[in-house]
Amino acid sequence: MKILLLLVLSMVVVAREAAAQEVQCDRERAAMVESIRAYARRSQASVLGQRGLSERVLEAMGRTKRHLFIPERSCSIAYADRPASIGHGQTISQPFIVALMTELAEVTPDHVVLEVGTGSGYQAAILAHLARKVCTIEIVPSLAEAAAKTLKEFGYDNVSVRAGDGYAGWPECGPFDAIVVTAALGEVPSPLIEQLKVGGRLVMPVGSAYTSQQLTVVEKVAPDKTTTRAVAPVRFVPFTRSKD
Ligand code: SAH
Repeated sequence: MKILLLLVLSMVVVAREAAAQEVQCDRERAAMVESIRAYARRSQASVLGQRGLSERVLEAMGRTKRHLFIPERSCSIAYADRPASIGHGQTISQPFIVALMTELAEVTPDHVVLEVGTGSGYQAAILAHLARKVCTIEIVPSLAEAAAKTLKEFGYDNVSVRAGDGYAGWPECGPFDAIVVTAALGEVPSPLIEQLKVGGRLVMPVGSAYTSQQLTVVEKVAPDKTTTRAVAPVRFVPFTRSKD
């Protein structure tokens, strides 16, 4: 009887600690959203134009639990406005950059979106809050597998993950209203432009992998015509190519 009581008491203590931890995580995530909002206000004119960051994007950032996508699931690491390591030498971008890329992609609830560079699945989760369907490709199979598992575990059932080289896009999943590429390459892959709908946008760091790149927005204005604008200097991990 005594042992049973002790067992129940220790279970209550563990549950209360977990609940307190969740409250602390929610607080830290809310603070992260406020720091993104403040950062956006400061850089608004040059980077985002007069519109600034939309409430829809900020809300998606507030609803997505970034700590679930990093290896230790640590809130103090997850909610600092810094890149976070996800293993295999890869990182999730600083939250402000995730918000910025999402904003520039101009995603609406009826959209089908492609992401190249799934990594942890965090950016895909943000997009999943805003779009109808998200297809995401990751070249490192174990990262693709882990991201698919996390996304499934937390109910992101409008996201499909595929392991492979995203250079060729994912024609069976498209055409796409928006494409977000989260690894740096010197040129925009032409298959991605082909799979973009007219009126759609592609957001990608363009430039050499080992220096800083320009975060670039390509808009498909007609079947054979695009416009390109560089938005801000950024630093991303390299876009790698499969050998086959
Ligand atoms: N968007 C991710 C972070 C991406 S880091 C997140 O939210 O966590 C960039 C990712 O792009 C890495 O995981 C890297 O393995 C992947 N990558 C690099 N080249 C690629 C390619 N050709 N096709 C698909 N993924 C690629």
